[in-house]
Amino acid sequence: MSDKHDKKAIGDHRLSPESLMMSYGYRPEWSEGAVKPPIFQTSTFAFRTAEEGKAFFEVAYGLREKRNDETLGLIYSRLNNPSLEILEDRLTLWDGAEAAAAFESGMASIATTAFTFLRPGQVLAFSEPVYGGTEYLFHTILPEFGIETVPFPAGAGREALDAALAEGDRAERLAMIYVETPANPTNRLVDIGACAAVAREHSTDDRRVLVAVDNTFLGPLWQHPLAHGADLVLYSLTKFVGGHSDLIAGAVLGSEELVTRVKATRTFFGSMAGPWTGWLLLRSLETLKLRMTSQMKNARYVADFLAEHPKVDTVHYLGHLSEDDPDHEVYRRQCLSPGSMISFEVRGGEAEAFRVLNALKLIKLAVSLGGTESLAEHPASMTHSDVPPPAQERMGITPALIRLSVGVENPQDLIADLTQALEFA
Ligand SMILES: *Cc1c(COP(=O)(O)O)cnc(C)c1O
Repeated sequence: MSDKHDKKAIGDHRLSPESLMMSYGYRPEWSEGAVKPPIFQTSTFAFRTAEEGKAFFEVAYGLREKRNDETLGLIYSRLNNPSLEILEDRLTLWDGAEAAAAFESGMASIATTAFTFLRPGQVLAFSEPVYGGTEYLFHTILPEFGIETVPFPAGAGREALDAALAEGDRAERLAMIYVETPANPTNRLVDIGACAAVAREHSTDDRRVLVAVDNTFLGPLWQHPLAHGADLVLYSLTKFVGGHSDLIAGAVLGSEELVTRVKATRTFFGSMAGPWTGWLLLRSLETLKLRMTSQMKNARYVADFLAEHPKVDTVHYLGHLSEDDPDHEVYRRQCLSPGSMISFEVRGGEAEAFRVLNALKLIKLAVSLGGTESLAEHPASMTHSDVPPPAQERMGITPALIRLSVGVENPQDLIADLTQALEFA
């Protein structure tokens, strides 16, 4: 199955991603007229003939080039499965990517990408802070395989990246620049276009430096890294795309060439998503724009409320960036909306933050983000607790900081909950 016959337009009229989310990559006549794609809950696929099986393997294992009219035949669900292929086709739409690969978790997508493109002796430069699991992979696991990992601070401009690469012969060994923007939990930004320029400057004929962007916080609606020169876009689909806090999944998007290489590694790591996860995500994608738009509107009300509250010290929200903030210019160029992630410091420290978190009635006290329900957590002692205190301090992760993922509830109800909880600060 493939989208190749499917149209993205009616005549000259190009269809928007939200319209294609119910049809792209699937046709009812393929499955008894079923309007929705079935769950292809199977581990293996029958070949019509031995010759066909041979041909499918030749293409899948790269023994010969794919002919122009040929698609990758269905073989075995670790290599491909229609529930994943339809999902991957639809995932390309918002980011305008040539191809996508789905994984059983965001971490699986990040780790599989790292092991596809990085080799011993090479350098990975990455913006800081990054997601805790990514931090562990980069700081602890990759160095054990001889890969040098070099952090640079988010929100400090291109100079910070240049400075990190200036030491020794790092620039000559640079293989990848990995960026998480907005940074979690502080919403500091990294200029994707500037990273792409640095990557180009350090690329040679036989070593192309790649830029990979974890777009979990604003994507796929509000930020499109490929349009700013990134080579790869990564997602934890667990968050906004899944959107109901009921599944774990991830994805990598990019050119056909790069994603094919990632998929080859995925085949042997076995890190692909299963058909049930793929099917759940197809359902989630249909309402993605509705949910992210509602969450974005709610977050504006909540952030404005917090900014005026006497027991709140600072609010980190992209919709409140002042014009003299260096991130303002990056935001204007790179982001289409402030999204729905807010972090704020209550007056006081951990005790005050905990009292607020413990008093919340509607907003749930939990890590993760992007779901229909609003969630609050304490980065310093939860998601970022393995970051040593001096580094926490440097990244702005203070004991008084609370991170809030705003859901689709009525915003007045969220404000009522925060109003009563902040009484306890
Ligand atoms: C959650 C998250 C991840 C990891 O994704 P999982 O689906 O939990 O494996 C990676 N990056 C960011 C920004 C995240 O929020």
